[in-house]
Amino acid sequence: MKDYQLIINGEKIAGENKNFDVLNPADESVYNTCPSASDKQLDFAVNCANEAFKTWSLTTSNERKILLHKVADKIEENIAELAEIIVKEQGKPMFLAQVEVGAGAAWVRYTADLEIEVETIEDSETRLIQMHRKPLGVIGSITPWNWPFMIAIWHMIPALKAGNTLVCKPSSNTPFNTLRLVEIMNEVLPKGVINILTGGSGLGSKMSKHEGIRKIAFTGSTETGKSIMNDASNSLKRLTLELGGNDAGIILPNSQNLDEMLNGIFQSSFLNMGQTCAALKRLYVHSDQYDEVCEKLAVIANSQVVGDGMTEGTTFGPVQNKAQLNLVEELVNDAKANGAKIVCGGEALDKKGFYYPPTIVADVDNSFRIVKEEQFGPVLPVIKYNAIQEALLLANDSEVGLGGSVWGEKELASEIALKLECGTSWVNNHAEVLPHVPFGGCKLSGYGIEFGQEGLLEFTQSHVVNITK
Ligand code: NAD
Repeated sequence: MKDYQLIINGEKIAGENKNFDVLNPADESVYNTCPSASDKQLDFAVNCANEAFKTWSLTTSNERKILLHKVADKIEENIAELAEIIVKEQGKPMFLAQVEVGAGAAWVRYTADLEIEVETIEDSETRLIQMHRKPLGVIGSITPWNWPFMIAIWHMIPALKAGNTLVCKPSSNTPFNTLRLVEIMNEVLPKGVINILTGGSGLGSKMSKHEGIRKIAFTGSTETGKSIMNDASNSLKRLTLELGGNDAGIILPNSQNLDEMLNGIFQSSFLNMGQTCAALKRLYVHSDQYDEVCEKLAVIANSQVVGDGMTEGTTFGPVQNKAQLNLVEELVNDAKANGAKIVCGGEALDKKGFYYPPTIVADVDNSFRIVKEEQFGPVLPVIKYNAIQEALLLANDSEVGLGGSVWGEKELASEIALKLECGTSWVNNHAEVLPHVPFGGCKLSGYGIEFGQEGLLEFTQSHVVNITK
């Protein structure tokens, strides 16, 4: 078993608090034990990151670009090891873990190549006014357990490219892929530029309060996002909060090519066993096609091979942790008790590991918990509607707004898509995130933008220089 340690100022350091176990969700065995950082170690990491900022922030954009491409090279060299760690602590099938690492490397390269120009606001006879963009300082990155490697990259790379330094805290459910990533990054980057601490939610809260951190990049639940906002208020930290979602998908009446469409819908709903922030989490279907859609989705669900992500042929892994499995069971049982029809699945598998088969729930409406709450697991509720306007109202009847989608004839679908209350609307697609396309939520899905030029600018502050001629 590899001995993982904290990484502060380029050095591996044992955690001063008690180590904790991380389970393999495929069989509930202990995958490895993880170090836990003390408050003193947090202070030390933040001090080192502030010290490193003094020189890292003065490097040129091109110097940082070259180093970040070297990081991408290193990730690609280590893809097999990184993917295996992800499968064993996160649970997803191997092909998906490989996609996570490979796409992560591509994301690094795209972001490394972004440039920030100085903006000339006025260049007249009397004045030259220009707006520059400066890095913020030390960024705290706090990440969740669903796409742990990818999301860490989403925080780290734009922060570094803009000239900031980092203290990262991965989820204590899936810490090892990010510990290994930071180890690899330290082979390339100057010491202190990227530091990693592991520990529980208390550590995340202390980072959010820490005077030496200028911004928290957070991806996780809405509840934690609120708590971070509270903690960050004393030091007036900037925040990017990418929080929970409950994305609606609407299939337009009389839709053609249902088979192809439902394959797309299944994939975007059950991607990563449904544990994806912008997965399609509730589906609205016109009454004329309702039964057919439910049956066809069940056929796709039943064709999945549920098992250990390390086993060849597995297409569907376990839920990542017991608490999430319990929530999924609770929501499905609540639906059953209130008269819903379980079209397929609906029971955890009776074996070791947190297995829950892909489940389709019919005969539900917006009053059911499985529709109102984010299930973040392998269950899709399908809701019947009779008029498009009704479907739109039901889709927007949510306190969160990350993504949404409309499926069917392109022109009408695009018109409806624009009326969805969310950060991204897809047409005949869902959950597609791309390195050049800004992504973020509205309402209780948080605020701030990730990806693309706009995402990079979130790790900077403006500095205007006004020169009298
Ligand atoms: P979580 O909020 O429980 O934990 C996320 C991280 O925050 C972990 O590292 C955790 O240790 C830390 N944390 C917990 N309490 C904290 C506190 N009080 N202060 C600071 N840090 C704290 O979320 P999760 O269960 O790991 O992830 C699932 C949730 O994340 C879902 O709601 C999902 O929708 C959301 N998510 C959103 C996006 C997005 O881009 N919008 C992406 C992935 C996941």
